[in-house]
Amino acid sequence: MGDFTKLTSKTKNISKWYLEVIDRAKLADYGPAKGTMIIRPYGYAIWENVVSAMDKEIKSSGAVNAYFPMFIPNSLFSKEKDHVAGFAPETAVVTHGGGEELADPLVVRPTSEMIMYDAYSRWISSWRDLPLVINQWNNIVRWEKRTYPFLRTSEFLWQEGHGAHATKKDNWERVIWGIKMYEKIYKEFFALDGLIGTKSESEKFAGAQETLPYEILVEGGKVIQSCTSHDLGQNFSKALGISFQDKNGKTEYVWQNSWGFSTRSIGALVMSHGDDKGLVLPPKLAPVKVVIIPILGKKDTEILKYCEKIKGNIEKLDSEFPGGVEISSDNEKSFGHRISESELRGIPIKITVGTRELQENTVSIGFRLDGMKPTIARVSELSEKTEEYLVDIQERMFINSEEFLKENTFEVNDFEKFKKIMKTTKGLIKAYWCEEKDCEEKIKEETKATTRLKKLDVKKESGEKCIYCNKVAHYLWYFAQAY
Ligand SMILES: [Zn+2]
Repeated sequence: MGDFTKLTSKTKNISKWYLEVIDRAKLADYGPAKGTMIIRPYGYAIWENVVSAMDKEIKSSGAVNAYFPMFIPNSLFSKEKDHVAGFAPETAVVTHGGGEELADPLVVRPTSEMIMYDAYSRWISSWRDLPLVINQWNNIVRWEKRTYPFLRTSEFLWQEGHGAHATKKDNWERVIWGIKMYEKIYKEFFALDGLIGTKSESEKFAGAQETLPYEILVEGGKVIQSCTSHDLGQNFSKALGISFQDKNGKTEYVWQNSWGFSTRSIGALVMSHGDDKGLVLPPKLAPVKVVIIPILGKKDTEILKYCEKIKGNIEKLDSEFPGGVEISSDNEKSFGHRISESELRGIPIKITVGTRELQENTVSIGFRLDGMKPTIARVSELSEKTEEYLVDIQERMFINSEEFLKENTFEVNDFEKFKKIMKTTKGLIKAYWCEEKDCEEKIKEETKATTRLKKLDVKKESGEKCIYCNKVAHYLWYFAQAY
């Protein structure tokens, strides 16, 4: 690793800090085409841990995996009018192939509703074919001119699940399942607390009746919309003719949903947990869970042998944490250099070993999360201890996230206060809003904050007034500036 000058302070300039961490921890690099990103092995290994956790959830819910083409004929893509209008500004379109101009240009998928539902219309004819729930792990393209690694790139990786159901009720259950499954992954694996709810009319997915996001508040007071589950109602089934005969022989249109979770989540992970020394990775997603760093000197051979023994000791335990155990022993790098490298990479546990530890048959253990004073452990009990420490770190990271969310959420009933918060600390604001589009736009103009969501279990109130226009408002909404 090259640059070991100090990172920019996260609190002073979070955008600059973020780019430096992505680069120096070797998570990603820029692609040669504007807006594109290369996910480097260390970043990809984090994504693989996400995929492995989520794929289990998806399959155990009864959904199955498949793969559909990335090219969608423009004539097909244009069949659902809200959908095409919403996506048109960001689609990439292939107009030439094999040296010839194409009669029907091909849209590179910005999402797969149309290409999948075209097949669904042929595959579904009876109530016996339902529910049909198919998931894809793939890449999609939504045109961007500026790259902000993981958070805004023209091409990104994700999963997209698409359900077709016989009844509105079954469909809604799958929509809720989608967002709750994401919530579980975020809380248990990313150690990131967040909010789920429904989007306003103007913020929802093009072609959806309802969009349910999981929103994460990160340092600097902005939110990252990190995944969504959509209730598509019968919009697409009517546009594409996806109908079936119900048990009484009556022809009905199917009810549909889609849900997607992308590599954006890694941007949220980096921004939320990182600190001035670099990444801080939750043990359940860390590609390397333990790094062993020897103090090299006269007894090199003996110490390295001892490190191997420690490594074997930790690896022999059947662990719930997928990461590996690494020995950092490049003698071109000083001990201090290897310590900062392990901190930059966010490895949860570091074990240091010198001649004293060798003599006493112990190790010194330190935690990336809080730089706690190293504790001494006997090698014989190391594997169990390591597992306990990792469980503890994972839990404490989530508690930190929960507290951060609580401390930075404000209920406000005065627009001047609203403006002041958005100018200074930022954060999430809870306020009553009339749900009028004009009003939403004006709030955005004056504060850069958008409506993020209305909680699912929100109570309908009477006698409350809109924070901006004073008209009647029934629901409490969350507002924030977004990445
Ligand atoms: Zn209003």
